[in-house]
Amino acid sequence: MIPPPSALRSCDDCSALILWTVTVHNRRMAVDSVPDEAGNQAVYRDGLAWRSRSLDGVDAPPKRPWESLHKPHVATCGEVRPAQGQAPAPKDPPR
Ligand SMILES: [Zn+2]
Repeated sequence: MIPPPSALRSCDDCSALILWTVTVHNRRMAVDSVPDEAGNQAVYRDGLAWRSRSLDGVDAPPKRPWESLHKPHVATCGEVRPAQGQAPAPKDPPR
């Protein structure tokens, strides 16, 4: 199922549209708003909430018909802007 625009939010970092989901471990995770067959997160709607589960585990069931595949947004967010934590090179002290 493709999330409707009303379910999407903008990423604070790169302002791309993302979908907030709740994982099986009850943790929030942002995924890309556009389904991607290369994604490893099976996303489906559960009432008002969006759920996601990883397909990476060896015992993870395959994608179900009502699920769509998405990439975790953290996997693509870095492509839009430079990586975090890279402080500018220190300037030489004045002499
Ligand atoms: Zn982002």
